[in-house]
Amino acid sequence: MTTSANTNTAALRSASIDDPIIDSTVVSIPSLATEQRRAERQIVVAGGGAGGLELAVKLGRKFRRDRQTEVLLVDKNPTHIWKPLLHEVATGSMNSYHDEASYRLLAKKHGFRFMLGRITNIDPLRRSLTLASVDDGDGREVMPGRKLDYDYLAVSVGSQSNDYGIDGVATHSMQLDSREQAEVFHKEFTRQLHRVNAELDRDAVLSVVIIGGGATGVELAADMHNVVQRLREYGFEHLSSNRLVVSIIEAAPGLLPRLPDRIGYSVQRELARIGVDVRILTRVARVTDDAVHTSEGVAIPADISVWAAGVKAPSWLSDCGFPTDRLGRIEVNKDLSVKGMPEVFALGDCCSCYNEDGTEVPPRAQAAHQMASIAARNIRATITDKTTKDFVYRDFGSLVSLSKFSTIGNLMGNLVRGTVFVEGFIARMVYVSLYRLHQRSIHGSLSTLLIMLGDRIYKATRADVKLH
Ligand SMILES: Cc1cc2nc3c(=O)[nH]c(=O)nc-3n(C[C@H](O)[C@H](O)[C@H](O)COP(=O)(O)OP(=O)(O)OC[C@H]3O[C@@H](n4cnc5c(N)ncnc54)[C@H](O)[C@@H]3O)c2cc1C
Repeated sequence: MTTSANTNTAALRSASIDDPIIDSTVVSIPSLATEQRRAERQIVVAGGGAGGLELAVKLGRKFRRDRQTEVLLVDKNPTHIWKPLLHEVATGSMNSYHDEASYRLLAKKHGFRFMLGRITNIDPLRRSLTLASVDDGDGREVMPGRKLDYDYLAVSVGSQSNDYGIDGVATHSMQLDSREQAEVFHKEFTRQLHRVNAELDRDAVLSVVIIGGGATGVELAADMHNVVQRLREYGFEHLSSNRLVVSIIEAAPGLLPRLPDRIGYSVQRELARIGVDVRILTRVARVTDDAVHTSEGVAIPADISVWAAGVKAPSWLSDCGFPTDRLGRIEVNKDLSVKGMPEVFALGDCCSCYNEDGTEVPPRAQAAHQMASIAARNIRATITDKTTKDFVYRDFGSLVSLSKFSTIGNLMGNLVRGTVFVEGFIARMVYVSLYRLHQRSIHGSLSTLLIMLGDRIYKATRADVKLH
């Protein structure tokens, strides 16, 4: 039991899902000023993540010479971080300040306009969005709340953790839905590592309980062990893998329940080798400040608990008047237009989209990336009264990175009969290339090559773990 040193605060654990880098709060002014249009036709992309940013880049390039059309990207943060890297931001194996991409720079480069602000509402009848005021983090207003008109809209605001209303999760568990949450985790993880390293009692450990054995949970578990092993080189001489106790709790009969069984077994075997305690067929009943309690009444000590068990759409989306499913995701037609609203499209984690065989398109970066291409094409087709194209999800496979220990997954997904199982070096190379492909989509080929070169120089001159 390690509760003596447990000084986690509820505030740290419950950093709001919608916390922006520049804090923004809704102001109660009677009528908000409407942003001036700069062109006759305004296409707004709401949310610049894996899907939305790629879409804004494609539309910006397409319409940059069209004086009648403006493409406007709105995001609550001034910079973009690719969400699949958030677990690395959380452990410190990635420095978010190095890997972030400035929306304003990309807007200048690709011919779209960027607007900073947290969307609090979308009114499809009036064709407008409401943005909260933006402050500088110290309470000084930088921009007032605003309204923004659109003629065509793409909603790509991603997802947030779904805690299914389980007692104590919102107050005591951390989440990794946004960069801010990943940074809050990193701060607490680093603080706890300092605590264990300085502890005179050599049996003292840091207990982390991850609820959810999906990709986020297993990748986070492996990367925490990677960081602890590396920290010895940076003066944390009392740290070792056996002073970090990571447990993963999964209700399903195996890890990675959405992926083929073979991947789940291999990942579980590898995690056992690293020293991660995996508890399958285990349900969480409640979470308290120092423990995660299972439905069998077992209390698993937790200096830090992380909720990574499923996602849903941001809660405000269901109040906007869009047709939504039980997870609050916007229901779309096959061409990604919103049901009953041909001028509105939805893509990525916030949309509810189904394959021909009735299976759900999974909430993955791969799907958001593919949707961005079809949405860009179909928005142009709608503007020019041409026929839109149906979205067909092509599953190229799934890869799970267990940090320096291994990478495991399958390639080809639903493209061939029987998927190709991969592990080790080849899997690692393909995994890394997915991020490089995203960078190529938003920066272009030459800039991505320069970024890769810059990364090499950066790595050679900096600590490979963020220590503060
Ligand atoms: C730790 C982790 C690891 C993952 N690993 C993988 C992986 O290995 N492979 C994979 O395919 N997928 C992975 N995923 C899932 C993947 O990240 C998502 O499926 C993907 O990012 C969805 O893209 P999106 O564009 O729908 O949303 P996001 O990429 O989440 O982008 C949403 C954007 O909307 C903005 N936004 C949100 N709300 C507002 C608002 N109110 N106002 C203004 N802006 C707003 C956000 O700032 C963000 O920029 C992982 C997810 C996590 C959390």
